Amino acid sequence: MKYSTNNYTKIGFAHGLLSYRYYLWKEFFKQLGFMVIESARTTTSIMKKGISLTVDDTCMPVKAFIGHVDELLSKDIDYLFVPRVLTIRRISGYYYTCPKIIALPDVVRAIFNLSENTTPKILEMEIDERKERMESRMIYFARKDLRKGKRDVKNAISVAIKKQREYEKMLSMKDDHRNYNLKIAVVGHPYLIFDDYLSIGLIRKLNELDVEVITQFIVPEKEIEKSMEGFFEISWGYEREILGSISYFTNIPAVDGIIYFTSFGCGPFAVLSELVIREIKNKSSKPIMFLMIDELTGETGFITRIESFVDMIRAQK
Ligand code: SF4
Repeated sequence: MKYSTNNYTKIGFAHGLLSYRYYLWKEFFKQLGFMVIESARTTTSIMKKGISLTVDDTCMPVKAFIGHVDELLSKDIDYLFVPRVLTIRRISGYYYTCPKIIALPDVVRAIFNLSENTTPKILEMEIDERKERMESRMIYFARKDLRKGKRDVKNAISVAIKKQREYEKMLSMKDDHRNYNLKIAVVGHPYLIFDDYLSIGLIRKLNELDVEVITQFIVPEKEIEKSMEGFFEISWGYEREILGSISYFTNIPAVDGIIYFTSFGCGPFAVLSELVIREIKNKSSKPIMFLMIDELTGETGFITRIESFVDMIRAQK
């Protein structure tokens, strides 16, 4: 599909789901000269809107994403960027993302009645790394679909990749330089862990309990894959990262406990949780907690659960 764009074209960019992983997308469009209009951070009103527009059993991150889209639609945008990420590449092979992520452009079109003839139009970039690396696909998309010049695209992709590396470095850094007396690994999807509203401030709250937090983003991919050896084959790429990281952290003595953070309505979690129990939790002495949230999760109960887990680890130490 060809899109009609110029340097004044405004592209709406929802702050949710894979935008927490692929910083390069936003940077790429900026570098190509588009005005990128981002939605605000998740708030109660964004969440309420997302809930009202989706069916009950939709997972919380998708509900939040729909709320962000609704906010963007009240702005004067020409396009709404909704990528379709089918497969991703890891060092061990190619893996699917989750069906809800694969179907995202269709879901957004259906909920908001968007089509070829409406404004904004959906800017859909399909990424299937079995066929083509994400960066190559972005170059092709900008050249063929956005009709941008070769030199502009080359420059935009190199800046975007640089920013992506900086972002990944930032994710892999220690959260601050205090000396904590406990270390807990929080593992889950970045759009839950790093969204302060959806996570009910999980990282902050653990820090307040004198707990250092690390996430799977500090673990090199080859270590995660090594930890997956001997496991049941997982065909979802991001879940592979989660499972491998939990397994990895169980063998790190400096890690005192692990929180697998997830949301109600997450299909892959139903399979993964069973594997974590069978293959890791029952074979390891490391405390592991499944922490699940939904839109009804209250802050008080949430804090009580975290405090109990931390107290239990401290008592065992
Ligand atoms: S992996 Fe789970 S939380 Fe993420 S989009 Fe899919 S169902 Fe939702």
